Amino acid sequence: MKNTNGSDLRRLQWLLIAFTGMATAAIAADPSGTRPPNILFIFSDDHAYQSIGAYGSRLVETPHLDQLAKSGMRFDRCLVTNSICGPSRATILSGKYSHANGFLTNGGKMRFDGSQVTFPKLLQSAGYQTAVIGKWHLVSDPTGFDYWHILPGQGAYYNPPMNDNGRAVKHVGYSTDIITDLSLDWLKNRDPQKPFLLMCQHKAPHREWAPNLKYLGHDNDRMYSEPTTLFDDYSGRGMAEKSQDMTIAKTMTAQDLKLKEPKNLTPEQLEKWNAYYQPRNAAFEAANLQGRDLVRWKFNRYMHDYLACTKSVDESVGRMVQFLKENQLEENTLVVYSSDQGFFLGEHGWFDKRWIFEESLRTPLLVKWPGRVKPDSTNQQIVSNVDFAETFLEAAGLPVPAEMHGKSLLPILRGENPTNWRNSFYYHYYEFPGAHSVRKHYGVVTDRYKLVQFYGGNANYAELFDRQSDPQELVNVIDDPQRAQVLGELRTELARLRAELKVPDQNSEDSN
Ligand code: CA
Repeated sequence: MKNTNGSDLRRLQWLLIAFTGMATAAIAADPSGTRPPNILFIFSDDHAYQSIGAYGSRLVETPHLDQLAKSGMRFDRCLVTNSICGPSRATILSGKYSHANGFLTNGGKMRFDGSQVTFPKLLQSAGYQTAVIGKWHLVSDPTGFDYWHILPGQGAYYNPPMNDNGRAVKHVGYSTDIITDLSLDWLKNRDPQKPFLLMCQHKAPHREWAPNLKYLGHDNDRMYSEPTTLFDDYSGRGMAEKSQDMTIAKTMTAQDLKLKEPKNLTPEQLEKWNAYYQPRNAAFEAANLQGRDLVRWKFNRYMHDYLACTKSVDESVGRMVQFLKENQLEENTLVVYSSDQGFFLGEHGWFDKRWIFEESLRTPLLVKWPGRVKPDSTNQQIVSNVDFAETFLEAAGLPVPAEMHGKSLLPILRGENPTNWRNSFYYHYYEFPGAHSVRKHYGVVTDRYKLVQFYGGNANYAELFDRQSDPQELVNVIDDPQRAQVLGELRTELARLRAELKVPDQNSEDSN
C-alpha cells in the first residue's frame, strides 16, 4: 500500500471497521460526524478548457462551472495520460497508464478488463453505494457499481437507447438532460445511511456536437473570432502533423456540419431542428463559399453546435450542485468536474484530440469540497487523470494499491505545496492506424517543454517544443544548439519515466 500521509485517526478507525466488514453499521451510526465524504464525479466527453468561463473563455457563458470553480479549486494543468475517450476512462478507474490497465485505444478489439482493481470497487467494498450513469465506452459491462445505466458505445444525443444494469431501455429526450435526470433519481432513491460515489458521465460535447433543441440559435448567429492558427500549414513540423486527418477544412462531414438531418428525431423534434438549420443551410448552399471563407463558415457552425452542447453540460452541473444544497449534502460531498481529455476548437485547423499538444493534453479539472478546499483557489502543478483514483481513495480514508501510478491530490487540495510533487509527466498515444490518422507518439512534458517521439511505420522522429517562447507549439526546436543541454536532460527524464512506469518496448506493440 502507498503511504497515505494526512489520513487522520478517525479515518483510520473507519477504515479498520470497514475492513472488518462492519462498514455499513459504522456509517449508519455516524456518532461524531466522521463519515467519509460522498463523491460526485461529473464528467463530460471532449470538453475543451478553452470553452469554460472559469478558464478565461469568452466563447460561451458557463455560470455553473464558473461557480463550481469559485467554490473550490481550479486546476490549470491537469494532463491526461492518453488523450482519447476509452483509454482516459480506463486510466481514471484503474489509476494506471494504458499499458498497465490494458485499454490502449478506442478502436480494435479493446475491452476493459473489469476484473482488475478499480477505485469504485474499493469504495464499494468499503461500504460506499456506487453508481455510474451515462457514457461508459469501455465495451465490457461496468464492475464495482451497485447501479449502472449507460449509453451503449458512443451513445446517441437524441432519444438514446441505454443499458439499465443489463436491460435495454429507450429514453425520449436529450442525452445530457436524461443522464442528469437519472443521476438525480438515483440520488433521491439511494440509501441515505451510506456514503455514495456517483459518476455522472455525459456524452456531450463529443462529435457530432448535436445541441439540445432549446439551445439552437443560442448565440444569435454570432461570428466567432477564429484561432490565429486556424490556417496552420504545419511548416517547421514533421509528417505526423502534416498527414493527420482531423481538420475543419477537410475532415468534417455533412453530419458534423448539420447539413444532413439526424435520423432518430421524433416529428416534433425534427420540426424544431429544421426550423433552425434549414434556412441557414439554404443560405450556405446559395453562397457557394470557397477556400478560407468555406473553412470560416464551417468553424462558425462548429462553434455554434459545440458550445450549445456545453451549455447543457453546464446546466447539468448546476442541477446536481443544487440538489446537494437542497438536501443538506453539500458539506460532506467532494464534487469533481472533469472531461476525458481536451479538444481542439480550431487551433492548428483542427477539431478532435489525441495529440500531446496542449489543447488535447490538458483537461478541465474543478474540485469543490466545502471546509476542505479553499474557495476560489487555483493550482498550476502538473496533475493528471491518473491521480483521480488515489485522490478518491485517500478522501475515503482507504489505502492506495501500490500498483497505481498516480498521486493523491489531497495535499494540494488542502492548500499545501508538496515539495515532492512531479516536475515531469509521461504521455503515450497508441491509436494508429485509426480514426483521424494521428501517429503513435509518446513524450515527456514539463511546465515549459515537450519532447515527443513519433514512432511506427514511416514516422520515426522526435520533436521539441518550448512553450515559453512558442506557446502555440508551432516550432520544433530539437536542432537548436542553444537547447542541446535541455534536450539531453529531457531525453534522460523520458527514459527514466518509461523505466519507472515499465512501459513495454514499442516493438512489442504491433500485436495490439
Ligand atoms: Ca473523449
